Amino acid sequence: MSHADDAVTPPAGPTGAPLLRVQGLQKSFGANRVLDGVDLEVRRGEVLVLIGPSGSGKTTVLRCLNGLETADAGRIGYDGGPSIDLAGRVSKADRAAMRDRSAMVFQHHNLFPHLTVLQNVIEGPVQAHGVSRADATARAEALLERVGLAEKRDAYPFELSGGQQQRVGIVRALALRPDLLLFDEPTSALDPELVGEVLKVLRGLADEGWTMIIVTHELAFAREVADEVLFFDEGVIVERGAPATLFTRPEKERTRRFLDRIL
Ligand code: ADP
Repeated sequence: MSHADDAVTPPAGPTGAPLLRVQGLQKSFGANRVLDGVDLEVRRGEVLVLIGPSGSGKTTVLRCLNGLETADAGRIGYDGGPSIDLAGRVSKADRAAMRDRSAMVFQHHNLFPHLTVLQNVIEGPVQAHGVSRADATARAEALLERVGLAEKRDAYPFELSGGQQQRVGIVRALALRPDLLLFDEPTSALDPELVGEVLKVLRGLADEGWTMIIVTHELAFAREVADEVLFFDEGVIVERGAPATLFTRPEKERTRRFLDRIL
């Protein structure tokens, strides 16, 4: 398999243990306890969807996983290896290892405005992972092709539509070849007519076996791709289950009220 073919398939890895296990995740901002003991697991190839009211802590979970926030307590482990105690002193090496497992796609694409599409995509692999420019370029081209943007490689972000920018944001995350893709409301900043093209890419990634945790309010989409849906409220997971069950027969009153409002 060439590097270019490689680029569009998820990295292989052990499948015995869950890819990621999070236990008792806690995070406060000042006196505000934003995460109050979150447990979750995701296996390779699974898609978890996090739903819940604004401010319930969904984004903070993703940010703690990706090292953008430092959790106050809890444990995170990958591939059944030793879990890292976040309440203790986490070594720089452990932090870097945790961070490298995942790549995040933000609500706003966060592309560098002064770099072309191709430069935006290869920047991470070349600068952070030491991949050669030639290899990074070959992979980037394969990924851009994959999301229908091959002809935009030399364009600047401002020359693209919001949906195209977000697809480049996804390619940038894929180019890092993470085990886990984290999506923080990837379509909520888009005009409604551009949402479909981004969801289509996400659906494709799910079909190809990428492991993903997605925060979204697109419940029809969640129902289609999620293996498990986690309903958050006030920093805890109130209810979790397969989408067919959780969306049609939620057990908890709080879940029912949220779904009634949003559906
Ligand atoms: P959600 O993604 O479910 O909308 P968030 O994880 O973004 O929720 O936020 C959870 C809570 O944490 C909110 O009350 C929010 O105001 C607060 N919060 C998030 N980030 C910060 C921060 N950097 N400083 C202070 N409070 C924050």
